Amino acid sequence: MTDSQRSSIRTAGGVPPAVFVSHGAPTLLLEGGAACDFLARLGPRLGRPKAVLCVSAHWETDEPAVSAAVRPETIHDFSGFPRPLYDMRYPAPGSPDLAKGVQALLQKAGLACSIDPGRGLDHGAWVPLKLMYPGADIPVLQLSVQPDRDPAHHVAVGRALSPLRGEGVLVLASGSAIHNLRALRWGGAEPEAWAREFGAWLDQGVTAGDTAALVNYRAGNPYGAKAHPTDEHFLPLFVALGAGGAGKGEMLFNGFTHANLGMHAYAWG
Ligand code: ZN
Repeated sequence: MTDSQRSSIRTAGGVPPAVFVSHGAPTLLLEGGAACDFLARLGPRLGRPKAVLCVSAHWETDEPAVSAAVRPETIHDFSGFPRPLYDMRYPAPGSPDLAKGVQALLQKAGLACSIDPGRGLDHGAWVPLKLMYPGADIPVLQLSVQPDRDPAHHVAVGRALSPLRGEGVLVLASGSAIHNLRALRWGGAEPEAWAREFGAWLDQGVTAGDTAALVNYRAGNPYGAKAHPTDEHFLPLFVALGAGGAGKGEMLFNGFTHANLGMHAYAWG
């Protein structure tokens, strides 16, 4: 398990990088542990952004959609978890004006984008944000993923959004580096070889800036389909990669919870 120790991860010009985090199980907030500690340190290291645009694996649409609620509700989009999770709220404000700006950037790049005035914050957003920015006083918007579209589409979405970074907006993509729910072992066990190997391949591909290999992960890696039986938890990574310029990324954290759930995090830009 590795956790980059560099104190600040802002770029030289003070522009926030684009970041991908793995949000783990909803119970991450109750369990603690290294991944939880990493996220708690990540907010201060990134500094305070003007707003957060969170690309969540838990919002799936046919075409990109951005949330524009003035006061986004906290969505408890899971079932069968301990009661304290349902009592948790993340009362950050929204930003309808910034939502229009997001839509304009995507449309300028020839990409569709709808505005959803009612969408709240799902646990892909509020679980990591509760750790990163516990004050809940920074405006948060969400952007959806398109599970029927390929990684290259998500890189293009990210590229279109990269000007937001210059305005001090943190593009925070939230999914999972390795996400095979059938392979979870509650209570914890060591990750299996296929998970470790996919994680190591991902670290290498991100830090080498090998976008061609990463977007081809399902066909090009022997463990791609095992690591992601469905794509939605991996697609946010490609939005961050595109928003950060699609060059070499920095590995911020790698490790596992529940045996094979990859908690890796990366930054670009
Ligand atoms: Zn999830």
